[in-house]
Amino acid sequence: MKQDSPIKALKGIGPKTEKLFQTLGVYTVGDLLLYFPRDYERCPAICGIGDLIPERKNAVYIRAPGTPAVNRHSGMQTTVLDVGGGGRTLRIMWFRSPYIRSVVKAGGMYVFYGRVSVKNGLFYMEQPEILSLDQYRERLRTLQPVYSLTRGLTNRQIQKTVRLALDDLPAEMEYLPEDIRARHHLSGYSFALEHIHMPADEQSCIRARERFVFDEFFLFLLCMQLTKDQSAALKNEYHFVQPGMCGEKDFSENEDRSFGHREMDADRSGVQNNGLNDSGSFVSDIIRQLPYKLTGAQRRTAAQIQTDMRSDRVMQRLIQGDVGSGKTILAFLAMLDCANSGYQSAIMAPTDVLARQHAGKLRRLCGELGLPFPVVLLTGSLGAAQRREAYAAIEREPDALIVGTHALIQEKVNYRSLALVITDEQHRFGVKQRESFAFKGIHPHILVMSATPIPRTLAIILYGDLDISVLDEVPAARKPVKNCVVDMSFREKAYRFMESQIREGHQVYVICPLVEPSEYTEGENVLEYTERLKRVFPEEIQISCLHGKMKPEEKNRLMEDFLANRIQILVSTTVIEVGVDVPNATVMMIENAERFGLAQLHQLRGRVGRGDAQSYCIFMQGNGEGTENRRLAVLNRSNDGFFIAGEDLKLRGPGDFFGIRQSGDFRFRLADIYQDADVMGRASDEVSRLLREDPSLEREEHRALRQRLRMYAGEDFSLLNL
Ligand code: ADP
Ligand code: MG
Repeated sequence: MKQDSPIKALKGIGPKTEKLFQTLGVYTVGDLLLYFPRDYERCPAICGIGDLIPERKNAVYIRAPGTPAVNRHSGMQTTVLDVGGGGRTLRIMWFRSPYIRSVVKAGGMYVFYGRVSVKNGLFYMEQPEILSLDQYRERLRTLQPVYSLTRGLTNRQIQKTVRLALDDLPAEMEYLPEDIRARHHLSGYSFALEHIHMPADEQSCIRARERFVFDEFFLFLLCMQLTKDQSAALKNEYHFVQPGMCGEKDFSENEDRSFGHREMDADRSGVQNNGLNDSGSFVSDIIRQLPYKLTGAQRRTAAQIQTDMRSDRVMQRLIQGDVGSGKTILAFLAMLDCANSGYQSAIMAPTDVLARQHAGKLRRLCGELGLPFPVVLLTGSLGAAQRREAYAAIEREPDALIVGTHALIQEKVNYRSLALVITDEQHRFGVKQRESFAFKGIHPHILVMSATPIPRTLAIILYGDLDISVLDEVPAARKPVKNCVVDMSFREKAYRFMESQIREGHQVYVICPLVEPSEYTEGENVLEYTERLKRVFPEEIQISCLHGKMKPEEKNRLMEDFLANRIQILVSTTVIEVGVDVPNATVMMIENAERFGLAQLHQLRGRVGRGDAQSYCIFMQGNGEGTENRRLAVLNRSNDGFFIAGEDLKLRGPGDFFGIRQSGDFRFRLADIYQDADVMGRASDEVSRLLREDPSLEREEHRALRQRLRMYAGEDFSLLNL
C-alpha cells in the first residue's frame, strides 16, 4: 500500500467512511498511520455476572446455556443470549449479526467483552467481542488504543482500519540514519508504528513513543536549522533614525539627551508640535508619557529591540513573558519606532478579536500622544469595500501601523515599506510566513511574542533561530489574582459575589468547556448556561455568550460591547483565552475547571488581574469529586506560569504520557517540551552533527530522510536550504 493512497484504497472503506476520516484530517494511508491514539485502555479483569459494573466495558467468562436466538426488536434484527448468574440475568445482544448463532455454540465457554448498561433493572451487554479464554488473557497484556472520534465513526472502526494499514506496510519505511538510531537506542520505524497503535505491552508502547518523540523533535529542529542559516545572514537594509547611541542607558530618566528625529513634512508635524523632539530618543519620550512606569524587564527589552533594528542584521527576536507581563506595549513601541523612521510595521494576531483590540489600542495611543501615523486594520471579517481600502492604505502610507490576522500575508497585500513584522501569541512565525514576505522582496525585522513559559535551555533549542528577551517581572502595581477552588454547591455564593463586583462597576467572565449540549461529553455549555444566568441575575445586568461557532462580525461586536461595559457578564468558551485585555474585568469563573489543562487555565486566568482593582479566579470543579483536583490545587497556590509548568510536569507520572498537554506554540503530536526535554536536547545534537557532516543531505544514506523531510515540510520544502 502506498502511503499517499487515499484511505478508500483500504478494504471496507467506502466514500461515507472516507468522509468521516477526512473530518479528522485523515486523507491518505500515511495520514492514518500518523493518527496516533489519544490514550490507551487496559482490558478489565474477567468478572462474574454478579460483579458487572454498569456503564463500563466488562469481560465475563461464561458457558452459553443455549444457541442465541434471533429476534426482531423494534424493526431491527437482534441476536440475543440470556445468561443467568450471581442472582441476575445478563442479556447479551448483537445487532444485524445472525451469524453469531454459528459462532456461539450451546454449552461452549466464551469470554464476552463489551459495554454493560442497566435498563429497567435489567443488565445488558451490547455488541460484545467474543474471545476464547486464551485470547482474552493475551489481550489483558496489551493496551487498547483510544482514538479521538467524530460522530459516526467508532473507536473499533478506526482500530480495524489502522490494522489494515499496518498489515500492508511497505517493506522499508525507515528514514532515520542507522547510526542515529543506534546512538539513542531507538526502535525501528515499522515497529514504532505497530506498537504506538497496537502495543503488545506497555514496554513496547513506551519504546514506540520514544521513537516518535525523537522523530518529532528531530524533524522540527532539522527544518528550523535548514531555514535558519538563510535568514541569519540577511543584511539589515533599513535606515532607522539614529538615537545617537542605543542601549539600556537611553531609557534612564535622564532628560538631557537629544536624539535626531526624522524630519517630518510640514503637514505631518504632529510629533514636533507636542514636544517629543526635545529630549531623549523618540521611543524613550513615548515611554515617559505612558500612564504607567515600564518594568525593568520591559525597558531592557525595548532597548534591545531598538538596537536590533539599527544593527547590520535583520532582527529576529522572541519576547517571552508570562500572561500580564506587558508584551503588547513593547510591540507598539517597536511599531512606532518604525513609523517614526518612515517605515511600515505589521502585527499579526491569531484571532480577529485580538487584532481589533490591538488596532483600537494603537489608535488610542497615537491619539493620546498626538502621533499622526495611520492605523490600518486588515482581517478576514472586513467587508469588501473596507478591505479594498485597507489594501490601498497599505500600498500608499509609508508609515502605516498595520494590524491584522493571517490576511496580512496574502498575495494581494502589497506593502509599501514594511520594516517589521510582529506575531502575537501562539503563532510561531514559521518558514512559511517569513517566506511569504521574502516573495514580495521584503526581509523585515521579526519580533515574536510568546507566553509559553519555557526554561532558557529549552528555549535556546526550540527558538534556535531567534534571540530571546525574557520579561521576568510583572508590573509592580498589580495585585496578584486571588484564587479559589470550589465545588458546585458554592455556585449560589459565587453568583452573589459576581453580582457585588458588578455593582462596583466591574465585569465578569464565565468559561464553559462546551458550546452546546453534547450527547458525548458531560459538562456545562455556553448556550444553556447563558440562559440560566439570565434567570439568576437581575435584568439590568447584561449577559451575553461568545463561542467559536459565531460569525467573526458577531464576535467582534460582542467584544466591543464587553470592552465598553455594555455587557457585564460574558459567558464564553476558551476562545477568550488568547490575549484579550479588558482591565475592568475582575472575576473569572471557570466551570468544569477539571477538564482543562494547567497551561490553559493559567492563560484563562490571565484575562483578569490586568487593571488596578483586586481580581478573583473561581475554579469550579464540576465532576462531583469531593477531593480537590491536584492540578487545580497548583493553580490555587500560584500565579506564576513557570512554577505551574514545573508542577504540571511533576504531577504526571512516568507512564502518564497522554495527560492533558500544555497548549502553547508547539503543536507536537506526542512530544512534550517539558517532559521530553532530554530527548529534545539529544535530537538537537544529532541535527547539528548531521548538518556538519552532510549540510545539504546529499549523501545516499540520507536519501530516505530527505524524502521524509519533503513529506514533513510539505509546501515549505522548497524553502529549505537544500
Ligand atoms: P501580555 O504580556 O499578557 O500580552 P499585556 O501586554 O496585554 O500583557 O498587558 C496587560 C495589561 O497590563 C494591559 O492592560 C497593559 O496596558 C498593562 N501594562 C503593561 N505594562 C504595564 C506596566 N509596566 N505597568 C502597569 N500596567 C502595565
Ligand atoms: Mg498579550
